[in-house]
Amino acid sequence: MTQFTYSRNTSLVISPSIMFEAACDLNTAERLNIAADELVGSTSCRPINFHINTPFALYLDVIYFPNHYRNKIRSTSGKSEAREFLKDKYQWNNRLIDSIEWDIVSSFISKQTYATRKTMTKYSHRWMLSNSKTIDNHIICSYCHQSEDNLDHDHFLTCNDSEERKEVRIKIFQQLLTQLQTPIALTSTLIKVIKTAYREQHQSTSQIPLTQQDIIGWNHFIRGRISKELTNTMTNFYQTLIQHKQRFTGIGWTKTVVKFMLEKHVYEWKYRCELNFQSKSIIHDNKHMYFHKRSLLITVDHFLSKIESLLFPKQKMVFGL
Ligand SMILES: [Zn+2]
Repeated sequence: MTQFTYSRNTSLVISPSIMFEAACDLNTAERLNIAADELVGSTSCRPINFHINTPFALYLDVIYFPNHYRNKIRSTSGKSEAREFLKDKYQWNNRLIDSIEWDIVSSFISKQTYATRKTMTKYSHRWMLSNSKTIDNHIICSYCHQSEDNLDHDHFLTCNDSEERKEVRIKIFQQLLTQLQTPIALTSTLIKVIKTAYREQHQSTSQIPLTQQDIIGWNHFIRGRISKELTNTMTNFYQTLIQHKQRFTGIGWTKTVVKFMLEKHVYEWKYRCELNFQSKSIIHDNKHMYFHKRSLLITVDHFLSKIESLLFPKQKMVFGL
């Protein structure tokens, strides 16, 4: 039994059956295994595979992963690079980047469907296909009717002509904070900053940084990047003031707010896309049809016409030709 080592915190334990095969015929995997053993050197330890029914066991930071090996290895391998990228992008130091509840955000995103996970990740990093990122796809804002080409990436949230939608989001957020029994002063601050975040060309709420979240930035708050300080504030509040209601925890509060920020804003993005496609809906065979669906039908029609000449009469009947 031996182990692969990809990085300091990653190990892959191979079962004895595979090692027996390795002794007979060295393939690429076995050769890599030997190379990994050499790299591990004196830091290696005797691997233990408790999962005898699996061909191998993957451990990351001493946590066993039974599946999705590729994603786990990829995210762990790129962890330090991603951290450096974010620090450079937002001019954060180590203390600041460590003050954000990253685990809560990534855990929530990882539980979504593939499509939602993709959109949420893009939203959290401002990678949505809008603003200058659109190529030959000049989108007009459905609220103010300006071209998005020269507007801010977050225009779908901040457009001055979408006040009604902003109000609805703010109201639902306020209701959520009330349900979570958030202190009145904190509720008032959070509502104030979310209103500021929804304004075009907003500035910081205060000139002197008061909290960790002020330093991180409230525009990150609406992306679910919440400071651990807020979690601690809520933990202390629940423990000291409403001790008898044990169902509330600071971590639970942050998880709920992260969920709200990601779900509501990604929903707003989808709504923006829906509005845009609706305006491009056209009539096809007496039916209203969205642009992308019509585009697909045109492609199918095109290929069908190409094979039509190659088919026998009986086969044509199958395709209704
Ligand atoms: Zn607009």
